[in-house]
Amino acid sequence: MKTSKTGIFLTFSLFLLLFFSCAKNPSKEILKAQTELALGTVCNINLFEYGTEELYDLIFKRLHDIELSMSINIESSEINRINNAAGKNPVQVSPDIIFVLSQALYYAEKTEGAFDPTIGPLVKLWNINSESGYLPTQEEIDAVLPLVDYRLVHIDEKNSTVFLEKEGMRLDLGAIAKGYAADEAVRIAAQYKVKRALIDLGGNIYAYGSKEKDTPWRIGIKDPFSPLSTPIIRLDVENKSSVTSGVYERFFEQDGVRYHHILDPKTGYPVQNNLMSTTILCSSSMAADALSTSTFILGRESGIELLESVNADLGNEQEAATIFITDEKDIFTTKNVGAYNMLLLDESFTVR
Ligand code: AMP
Ligand code: MG
Repeated sequence: MKTSKTGIFLTFSLFLLLFFSCAKNPSKEILKAQTELALGTVCNINLFEYGTEELYDLIFKRLHDIELSMSINIESSEINRINNAAGKNPVQVSPDIIFVLSQALYYAEKTEGAFDPTIGPLVKLWNINSESGYLPTQEEIDAVLPLVDYRLVHIDEKNSTVFLEKEGMRLDLGAIAKGYAADEAVRIAAQYKVKRALIDLGGNIYAYGSKEKDTPWRIGIKDPFSPLSTPIIRLDVENKSSVTSGVYERFFEQDGVRYHHILDPKTGYPVQNNLMSTTILCSSSMAADALSTSTFILGRESGIELLESVNADLGNEQEAATIFITDEKDIFTTKNVGAYNMLLLDESFTVR
């Protein structure tokens, strides 16, 4: 049999090509949506036709790393290292912490402390992040209130350190960290040329790209009175995050009263206004997360003022959009929600 030199060369090149592409991509198989527990919640990620094992691993690893750094439930987390050194010494931390904490302080300033990442001592007192909550006495609340003050947080960017001025202070990034994590998941996906993905970190959603060419994603907004039943609002979104803060997310009941997980730093009690939930749509999930908590605390009027001011800072007045749902089943939206083809699916609610 005659074999030409060109033939041998081509066969050899093909072998090399196959060898290196296999070595680089251990598994090219496309996996279905993947679910893991991270950041204290169920995280579901669907990368569709881009879903290789390698990429899912990379994204989940990033989520776990963010949790290891920011969770107050992990004793060795960076956040707890800062908390344990409160009133004593500054602590050197990662760029992740410096960035997210700086952002949290920006929202604290914007809301004059309604949103406050030093809410930790109150969160601990109410025990709201565990199965069973605790209804504190007024004395207990009064004792920790002076420890909740974002102005006592000192970030030294040059040396990458954080210092909490008073002993007993505790940072809690629970109102912003999942948003940051969702943005990070999207950043990695985009880096790997993913064109569409659905990222759901315990209801903190990023609908990346579009469902198909010219077809947006459809997402639902929960009924805050009955979060497990079918959604009450449908929205068309592309490249946007949707984040909701509501009274139903984490709470306990005692003597017929519901105590939920969003606390008013001025009173030390769960925020009480006529809101059941606020939803923010925004291309930054971190902004959506911080803004959903902030607008929920501030209520509708001040919430809208905050939104306008943050949108001006972001340089785009259309950026963040809000849906407020009240305890009277009224739905109020900012004008820019118009871009999402909002459809009401439950007639017991009224769009005002
Ligand atoms: P979210 O579910 O994003 O609205 O955030 C609520 C979580 O943020 C709570 O579980 C607390 O860990 C924390 N938190 C509660 N109240 C506040 C507040 N006033 N400012 C900042 N974070 C808060
Ligand atoms: Mg939030």
